[in-house]
Amino acid sequence: MAFGWIDEQAELRRRAGLVRTLRPRPADSPLLDLAGNDYLGLARHPEVAEAAARAARTWGGGATGSRLVTGSTELHQELERELAGFCGFEAALVFSSGYAANLAAVTALAPHGSLIVSDAGNHASLIDGCRLARGTTQVVAHADPDAVRKALGAHDGPAIAVSDTVFSVDGDAAPLAALAGACRRHGAGLVVDDAHGLGVLGDGGRGAPHAAGPAGADDVVVTVTLSKSLGSQGGAVLGPARVIDHMVNAARTFIFDTGLAPAAAGAALAALRILRREPERAARVRAVASALHARLTAAGLAAVRPDAAVVSVRAPSPEGAVRWAADCRAAGLSVGCFRPPSVPDGVSRLRLTARADLSGEQIERAVQVIGETRP
Ligand code: PMP
Repeated sequence: MAFGWIDEQAELRRRAGLVRTLRPRPADSPLLDLAGNDYLGLARHPEVAEAAARAARTWGGGATGSRLVTGSTELHQELERELAGFCGFEAALVFSSGYAANLAAVTALAPHGSLIVSDAGNHASLIDGCRLARGTTQVVAHADPDAVRKALGAHDGPAIAVSDTVFSVDGDAAPLAALAGACRRHGAGLVVDDAHGLGVLGDGGRGAPHAAGPAGADDVVVTVTLSKSLGSQGGAVLGPARVIDHMVNAARTFIFDTGLAPAAAGAALAALRILRREPERAARVRAVASALHARLTAAGLAAVRPDAAVVSVRAPSPEGAVRWAADCRAAGLSVGCFRPPSVPDGVSRLRLTARADLSGEQIERAVQVIGETRP
């Protein structure tokens, strides 16, 4: 029977407690949300929603074509200029998702014969970029600049090192300055995914590369998503103008993909402008993450010290994590639940996201619920 093997896989998944199901989120959910990635609380900001609506009225519900044909509007280009300027880069290119931006950055910068040195904790989209690229990938130990140095030193020819700036599972930060130094020493490029850093780290939320120094360097390329701190949807690659021009001409997820919906570009641009006007939002989300971690630790829960907005709490097993998240939900708290294959070390976790608009009372309530429902 066609697809018979799917049933076998489904059975294995069921036995391992790893079945995933979809649940629609009601528009007016009464749950306290520590699961979404709306770090700055901007997804429902009236200016952001109005900018999306205005863009849809002006340009339509979709981009109508790829960026190189009919899919570029002035909104896309304004967003590119402002995003690059804000984060300290010469140029930027907007994609339909952060996933597509990562595929583009890695594949377009790793030609045949090149080496890609990839952190073992990288996001799936960077991993898939490595799989699609013509270059050869060497996976190195997590957050280990010496391993990167060694790998680059042993290779002759073009090379890049690829890393998340903030790892999505544990919320720990990459050693960016050391990575940039290792790359420079070996004439390699550095490609980092700042999905969890933009809007949270750096001066006024300018991102981890801005905070650590390498933003704007001619050998550094950064990818971001517009779907977390900017409360919209889409992604971007930031870097030197010649690299961005190369992306326009060579990145397949740019050339062959329909452009980002104008509503999403408009929403992201409005959110970016709010962030520039209200830089305290970035400091606030970091303070909320620290407070959340301190309270969880005081309650005896194994929480990893957060470097940005993600706070992760270890669960005893995949089934335990699912039950824990379900019990939290029943008690009015929405938390993320990470299980294999989303966790590289096989340890399941509850994943909490700090938001700039969480009150002290909400933090207390979240910690209380997590403690009381602990399996
Ligand atoms: N990189 C990281 C580190 C992420 O966490 C995500 C989002 N899950 C992405 C890339 C993909 O971004 P997007 O959702 O915009 O495709």
